[in-house]
Amino acid sequence: MSAILVYLGTHDNKLDKSAYEIASYAVALGEKTGLPVTGLVLGNAENIDQIGQYGLSKVMQHNAGFYKDFDATLYAKAVHEAAKQVSAEYVLLSHDYTGKSIAPFLSVYMKAGLVTTAVALPEINGDECIVKRNVFSGKALAYVKIKTPVKIIALLPNAYGKTKKEATVQVEQVSLSVDESVRKVKVKEVKKVIGKVSLTEADIVVSAGRGLKGPENWKMIEELAELLGAATACSRPVADAGWRPHHEHVGQTGTAIRPNLYIAIGISGAIQHLAGVNGSKVIVVINTDPEAPFFKAADYGIVGDAFQVVPKLIESYKQWKSQHA
Ligand SMILES: Cc1cc2nc3c(=O)[nH]c(=O)nc-3n(C[C@H](O)[C@H](O)[C@H](O)COP(=O)(O)OP(=O)(O)OC[C@H]3O[C@@H](n4cnc5c(N)ncnc54)[C@H](O)[C@@H]3O)c2cc1C
Repeated sequence: MSAILVYLGTHDNKLDKSAYEIASYAVALGEKTGLPVTGLVLGNAENIDQIGQYGLSKVMQHNAGFYKDFDATLYAKAVHEAAKQVSAEYVLLSHDYTGKSIAPFLSVYMKAGLVTTAVALPEINGDECIVKRNVFSGKALAYVKIKTPVKIIALLPNAYGKTKKEATVQVEQVSLSVDESVRKVKVKEVKKVIGKVSLTEADIVVSAGRGLKGPENWKMIEELAELLGAATACSRPVADAGWRPHHEHVGQTGTAIRPNLYIAIGISGAIQHLAGVNGSKVIVVINTDPEAPFFKAADYGIVGDAFQVVPKLIESYKQWKSQHA
C-alpha cells in the first residue's frame, strides 16, 4: 500500500465546496507521508481542474451515468475499487452528507479502521496513526489510533480549511468494476430548494428562534440573509411550530453546521441548539436577555430587541455596501 486516495464529492455536475478542503488536507498528508495523492470523482463534474488551486494534480474520474442519484452502497463500492487500483493506504473523505454515508460501508469492504469527524492531520509515528476527532457534539476531543493497514479518515467540514497551492490537474478517465446492480435506494423524485444558499455549504448563516414571535416576522431575517449572501436557519421549536420549514432547523436533532459566521437572533442557546452550531468560526448573538446562555458561546453579543437591532443592521450594511460598491 503506497498511496492516498481522496474522494471529491460533487453536486449538480460541480465539485462540492468540501472537496476543496479535503483536497488541501490530502495534499498536506501527502507531503507529510511522502505518498502520492489521487483524487476520485464519480460521475460528471465540469470544474475538476479547479481542484488544482489546492495542490491536487491527479484525479481519476469514473464518468458513469448511474452516479446521478446518490446511493451509499454504490458509491462505497466504487471508492473501494478506486482505492484498490491505486493501492491506497489512506482513503480520505469529507464528513458531509455523502462522505459520512459512504465511509462506514467502505470501512467494512476494506476491513479498514475509520475515524469520522476528524479535525486535524493525523500524527504518524512509524506504523502508528493517531487521528484527532470531535466528540460529544464538539464538547470534547478524542485521539483515536488506527491500526489497520488501510486507514479511512472523514474530515469534519470547515475544521481544517483550504490551502491555496497551484498545480496543473491531470484527469484520467478510469473504468471501475462497479455497476448499478448494487444500488439499494431507488430515487423516485428529487425536490430542490431553488435560488437559496444551501445551509450546509453556506459561509454565513442567519438564524432565528422563538424570540421572533411568529412566522410573519421572518422578512427581516430573509432580507439580512440575502444582503449577506447567507443561508437562513432556525431553532427547533420554530420548525416544530411550522413557522419555518424543517430543513432549516439546526442543532442536535437538526442539521449540524460549521459556517464562518453564525448570527443567532432571538435564540436562547439551549445545549441541543448549540450542539449543531458551536463549530461555527464566529458566533454573533442578538437577544434581549443578557443572561441568555447563548452569550457564553458568542464571540460578539448584542443585548437588544431583534425588532430594533436587525433593521438597523440591515440599514447600516446597505449604507456600507453603497459606499464600498
Ligand atoms: C432531545 C431534544 C433535542 C432537541 N434538539 C434541538 C435542536 O436540534 N435544535 C434546537 O434549536 N433545539 C432543540 N431542542 C430544543 C431546545 O432544548 C430548546 O427548547 C430550543 O432550542 C429553544 O428554542 P429558542 O431558543 O428559539 O426558544 P426559547 O428558548 O423560547 O428562546 C427564545 C429567546 O429569544 C429571546 N427573545 C425574546 N424576544 C426577543 C426579541 N424581541 N429580541 C431578541 N431576543 C428575544 C429570549 O430572551 C430567549 O432567549 C431539543 C430538545 C430536546 C429535548
